[in-house]
Amino acid sequence: MPVFYDTHAPLDYPDFAEELPQVLARAEAAGIANVISIGTDFESSRQAIALAEQFPNVLAAVGWHPSNVTEAPEDIRSPLRELARHPRVAAIGETGLDYHRLPSTSPGSGASEDVRYKARQAELFRQHLEIAADLGLNCVIHQRDSLEDSLAQFQPFAARVRGVFHCFANDAATMRRVLALGSLVSFTGILTFKNGQNLRDTLAATPLDGFMLETDCPYLAPVPYRGKRCEPAYVKEISETAARVKGCSLEELSRATCATAEVFFRHLGA
Ligand SMILES: [Zn+2]
Repeated sequence: MPVFYDTHAPLDYPDFAEELPQVLARAEAAGIANVISIGTDFESSRQAIALAEQFPNVLAAVGWHPSNVTEAPEDIRSPLRELARHPRVAAIGETGLDYHRLPSTSPGSGASEDVRYKARQAELFRQHLEIAADLGLNCVIHQRDSLEDSLAQFQPFAARVRGVFHCFANDAATMRRVLALGSLVSFTGILTFKNGQNLRDTLAATPLDGFMLETDCPYLAPVPYRGKRCEPAYVKEISETAARVKGCSLEELSRATCATAEVFFRHLGA
């Protein structure tokens, strides 16, 4: 059976709390050999590490999601460095910029709150990249409605840190800009959606060694599970669509995407 990784799954989400061993067993049965559990704040990063200690097929990424920045301490660098030194930590993240729901979309807030919020996200993103560069780890980057700012902020670090622009949903030209920085993209179940043709076109243009697969569960369950809770086992369905789009066998896709992920994530495949 061709083997794949789920490179982006916040397994600490309450959606999985009731049955995590079963979720991981289903992933293994589907050929998903390893799952990167993504931290979205320090508590979730600690839980990701705890899961990686408990389950041999889980590794952790540690970081603070840009949508949660208002709860973050001013300077996260020293606690982040401590977390990242753990031997089950594979990457920094997720971090990045998310302008999807700015403060000004709520009543009582305006443009000045938006400016402050964006500045806060930018500061935290920079702190993640500094720690990643210091420790020689790569970085899981979340970008939503913030493409130009995300690329501009990442660029000065591109020589020292590789990023994966996860849940990639942009066009082929944008994918080429990411790859030109020495970074990667990763694709979710959106690839399988009826209205996912644009993204399938992006994947078709992406070199076989330029991307990884992920679920971003519990969201974005691929067809035929669309609308249901997503879980790592569904990388199987994503991989089937990806192989069809790339015109390659599942074995070739497995070899390429696993090799890419093993270079990107520390300890993976070791
Ligand atoms: Zn994300």
